[in-house]
Amino acid sequence: MSQSSQNPYLWVERSLQTIHQANWYRSVQTIQSAPGSHIRLDGHDLLNFASNDYLGLAGDHRLIQAAVEAAQSFGTGSTGSRLLSGHRQLHHQLETAIATLKQTEDALVFSSGYLANLGAIAALVDRRDLVLTDEYNHSSLRNGAILSKATVMPYSHCNLNDLQVKLAQHRSQHRRSLIVTDSVFSMDGDLCPLPQLLDLAEQYECMVLVDEAHATGVLGQTGAGSVEHLGCTGRPLVQVGTLSKALGSLGGYVAGSKVIIDWLRNRSPTWIYTTGLSPADTAAALAAIAVIRQEPERRANLWQNVAYLHQQLDQHPIFNQATSPYRPLPSASPILCLQMAHPSAVMAASQQLRTAGIWVAAIRPPTVPTSRLRITVMATHQQSDLDQLLKSLTAIAA
Ligand SMILES: *Cc1c(COP(=O)(O)O)cnc(C)c1O
Repeated sequence: MSQSSQNPYLWVERSLQTIHQANWYRSVQTIQSAPGSHIRLDGHDLLNFASNDYLGLAGDHRLIQAAVEAAQSFGTGSTGSRLLSGHRQLHHQLETAIATLKQTEDALVFSSGYLANLGAIAALVDRRDLVLTDEYNHSSLRNGAILSKATVMPYSHCNLNDLQVKLAQHRSQHRRSLIVTDSVFSMDGDLCPLPQLLDLAEQYECMVLVDEAHATGVLGQTGAGSVEHLGCTGRPLVQVGTLSKALGSLGGYVAGSKVIIDWLRNRSPTWIYTTGLSPADTAAALAAIAVIRQEPERRANLWQNVAYLHQQLDQHPIFNQATSPYRPLPSASPILCLQMAHPSAVMAASQQLRTAGIWVAAIRPPTVPTSRLRITVMATHQQSDLDQLLKSLTAIAA
């Protein structure tokens, strides 16, 4: 057989085999119920600690009603890009509501948070510029930096000294500079030191883009996010976020100054060249923002649950010894991670929890450098739910 007649796709099977051997293989699992703190997964009723639906809004009847009514009035699809046939009054209303929540001049809704990050970064910098990115940033921020063609420079996680050293060394060789960071780190649960980071940015004339995906609706007095929580409202920065986590819908957004948003409408490829958000998703997110404003008790419940879980884990010797195979990572959010040495151990632990009726995500490389159980707390968990989780975790760890 000649060289040229070999199957050019053979490598896929071999590469999949390698992934299997490393315990990195992933597959989907089917949820057969409405979203919530209790779900049905592949035929089993489980207590759910694996959802981003922090406030329990994805199954809320008001969001569902808003989505149904929007679909009935405006159809299922928006039929085109926003600049052509895809713009509706609902988009404008949602953008106004986001800007009001964030206390920014304007906002722009994208079809996902991922696309919002890609499009915002690609519009703000190009090959003449410098992007500094936290090493633990979300994939969408890292790929946005690559898409922009700017020089990309990772700095160590939340390490302002490292960031400053890199700024001092490299800033002057570039035209514009952009620092990008998660606010709540999605696979760790800790919080970026935003006020100090903004001070550094000011000193070196850098723009800052902060990803509030896990903070919007969760952190801050009014649920505006970590920018509000850390007292940075009104400081010059670009905020990105998602409609798909605490807001229980689908889509993403950028919030910022009028000129920045105007620039994005003219220069952001992932907004210009993609179909506008569907009427149903848009209306559901709009309803979610109203609920967040009207029901601060949801956020209060969430943080009460988070505090309880933290306190119980802190007290328990199993999770505190230096030799413990389950080491809690620093967390300032409803995301609580227990780090483990090996992907196979984290898979086994998550399987044991599942047998005990609890769903906790096992996160492995290459998503994160070290394997971990990732527990996400919801406002709608009862204390008995948290106790059941703690009981199973301690039994498995013992
Ligand atoms: C989930 C997430 C995104 C992507 O948002 P989607 O709307 O799901 O595309 C972006 N950034 C971070 C930090 C996230 O956790």
